[in-house]
Amino acid sequence: GLRLRDEQILSAQMLKAAHISWARHEEDKDLINNINLITENILAMCLKEAVTNVVKHSNATECEVFLQTDHDQLIMIVRDNGTFKAGENYFEKGNGLAGMKERLEFVNGSLTIDTSDGTELRIQVPYDIK
Ligand code: ATP
Ligand code: MG
Repeated sequence: GLRLRDEQILSAQMLKAAHISWARHEEDKDLINNINLITENILAMCLKEAVTNVVKHSNATECEVFLQTDHDQLIMIVRDNGTFKAGENYFEKGNGLAGMKERLEFVNGSLTIDTSDGTELRIQVPYDIK
């Protein structure tokens, strides 16, 4: 499965190649080390898809990614300053967002999308530690 640290590096490279400036807020040192592997794989897959979408669809100049804890939850935000290109039925346009939502639900997580100013994905999962 995908490791989150590897995916963070690949995402940075993808954005750089697309000339989208990128800011990753550094998370706590042990945060990623302690995530259970299934949850980590799902977060890595979500990051990959979210950043691929930023590169493919957003026309953004900036992308911001961060991972933080909130009580017993892990929250990963992927935000860009572009324009969301789908209407209301975005879960039907492709497989990426729908696949993310499906996998997140599998671990009792959730996906919320705010498209009021660029696109912001809020990916939330229980912080199940190893
Ligand atoms: P697939 O992921 O299956 O290769 P896709 O990327 O078109 O295809 P989704 O990832 O599900 O499908 O995204 C659905 C639609 O939402 C996209 O086609 C695009 O119109 C819009 N979208 C998604 N992410 C962004 C983004 N960051 N900026 C602008 N539009 C977006
Ligand atoms: Mg996609």
